[in-house]
Amino acid sequence: MNRLLIAIFVMTLVCPSALYGQGENSQKKFNIVIDPGHGGKDPGALDVDDKSVEEKDIILSVSVKLKEMIADQIPNVSVTMTREKDVFIPLVERAKIANKAKSDIFISIHVNSLRPKDHPKYRSVKGIRFYVMGIDSKDEQGSMTALRENASILFEDDYQTTYAEYNSDTPEGKIALKLMQLNTSGQSWRLAETMEKYARRELPKASSEKMINSGNIYILRGTTMPSVLVELGFITNAEESKLMQSSSYQTQLAQIIVDAIKDYKNSVENNSSSISVVTPTETKPEIKPDTTERPKFYIQVASGLTKLPVTDRSFKSYAGKVVIKHIGNRYKYFVGETEDYDKVIEMLPEVRRQFSDAFVVAFKGDKQISIAEAKQ
Ligand SMILES: [Zn+2]
Repeated sequence: MNRLLIAIFVMTLVCPSALYGQGENSQKKFNIVIDPGHGGKDPGALDVDDKSVEEKDIILSVSVKLKEMIADQIPNVSVTMTREKDVFIPLVERAKIANKAKSDIFISIHVNSLRPKDHPKYRSVKGIRFYVMGIDSKDEQGSMTALRENASILFEDDYQTTYAEYNSDTPEGKIALKLMQLNTSGQSWRLAETMEKYARRELPKASSEKMINSGNIYILRGTTMPSVLVELGFITNAEESKLMQSSSYQTQLAQIIVDAIKDYKNSVENNSSSISVVTPTETKPEIKPDTTERPKFYIQVASGLTKLPVTDRSFKSYAGKVVIKHIGNRYKYFVGETEDYDKVIEMLPEVRRQFSDAFVVAFKGDKQISIAEAKQ
């Protein structure tokens, strides 16, 4: 665990919002970093039929359009690009650029590909996908993308030392990662979901059932702001590769991202005032002890030694809706309060979409009781 990770670790314990500098000043520009992946000696994925068609060129031209369209369509923003030419930039540098720019959001642009062994009909898979950082990923698609996009590291000269800390298998690595992730993952998911919404509207043909995936993607891990990696489409699909090379489709793709940023920026700016006035003591809708009360069921989504405000971004779409209870020496966070057991069971899968370890608990007043007892 290097010093940086320890610093992040400590900062996170002391001040959960330390990592994203909240917009106290509403005049502050909204900073966007666009990261066209690959470049220079790293071509990215190649078209199967025409090897001269390279990922790095498609994503650069979409990113340049994106930058111009953002400037035209969204007021009060600044846009930084990690590269504007065909040059190779190490992954670690890209994350540094974003962190230095104090970026509000980070969007990495890529093109997807599959190998024959990935999928029996690998050339027929198509569509736009969004990836967010996730370390306990059982998500096969996310892991595959992580492997492929991380492979860019191998083009760097000194990758063994630069990425020595990248190994998330060590316990410290896992903890540090988890903390970094907790701080921004709610916002990253929100940004990805906003992109998904516009993608479904704009490109119904390129939509699939599951458009958001998570994986241990280095470039998303190194950034400390909400980050999404967009895979515009599959270069291994002949039809989609053609489309992605056309200027009009590139504009359509960029428009999805512009609309999503606009929407996301509005929601963050409208929310930030309420976040800043909430203090931990006010955000305490704890259940009053009442022995005559009927048992209630909750879904526990998190617990920890430090107290987070109910509006904390770690609660993802449940921010502002969680109930906190102080039990033993831990703060536990619940959603879905109800007296109806069937209802809580019905809600569970939805909650688990965002909190995979969520589980049902029961309380009578302030006392935790067994589910069986509560059901009587
Ligand atoms: Zn890529």
